[in-house]
Amino acid sequence: PELMTRKPDWLKISLPQGKQYLDVREIIARKGLHTICVSGKCPNLSECWGRGTASFMILGDVCTRACRFCSVKTGSPQGIVDWNEPDRLAESIEKMNLKHCVITSVDRDDLPDLGAEFWATTIRRVKERNPDVTLETLIPDFNGIEELIYKVIDTCPEIISHNMETVRRLTPKVRSRAKYDVSLKTIETIAKSGKAKPKSGIMVGLGETEEEILETMDDLINVGCQVLTIGQYLQPTRKHLTVKEFVTPEQFRKYKVIGLEKGFKFVESGPLVRSSYHAEKHV
Ligand code: SF4
Ligand code: SF4
Repeated sequence: PELMTRKPDWLKISLPQGKQYLDVREIIARKGLHTICVSGKCPNLSECWGRGTASFMILGDVCTRACRFCSVKTGSPQGIVDWNEPDRLAESIEKMNLKHCVITSVDRDDLPDLGAEFWATTIRRVKERNPDVTLETLIPDFNGIEELIYKVIDTCPEIISHNMETVRRLTPKVRSRAKYDVSLKTIETIAKSGKAKPKSGIMVGLGETEEEILETMDDLINVGCQVLTIGQYLQPTRKHLTVKEFVTPEQFRKYKVIGLEKGFKFVESGPLVRSSYHAEKHV
């Protein structure tokens, strides 16, 4: 089939510029931090950094998984973690004067606790230094192990998100190691705790049907998910999955209406929506 390389107009984006953007870039570089904005080749970089926001990626920039949509580096970090990273992140958030912040991580299947303790330490340090900042933590599935998920829950971020990424049928093809039902269980654990707002995100344009999207919405509602983001999948490099369809803005609007009808408190649905896009609105 013909490669979908020509993007429709609604996916055209502006180039990064401006003082805010440069300040954010400078702080991130100086502190040696990683962001999903850069590692994930996010199309909203100029907008978000220009507003002074970014999504930080902790636990290094090498992931033990290799999802076929994701441009984060894959490899074995060999059990090594940088215990200074939590302080550098806390300082950066202070310097950037952020009111809301999204933190995510690579998956660290090489660590005995899958990185849960590092996550908890990071959140505590960030809060100690920035007591007024609200946090969204976009966490790995932690293999669905409640005890590990609770390490994050107990540090009380306002929102805890975990992305389904795609519908049930496409999960084995799109994600690596992750299982649809394990991800649902992770979200259910967050919801049942009653301590943080549970949130999830999916990509469209990978070959799923509308019916499958609605099934995923139902599955998420059934485990107590409250916030949903839906965005267009974009192929980060030629080695990644090809785009099967550019979903129209009308279809995204339809998904938003249906999602709200099904009971989500908040649905962010649009071609350029990413799970951390306009995240401050979900608190
Ligand atoms: Fe970064 Fe999220 Fe904005 Fe993309 S949408 S640039 S990942 S903060
Ligand atoms: Fe990317 Fe998958 Fe690793 Fe997450 S788990 S950083 S989506 S490769």
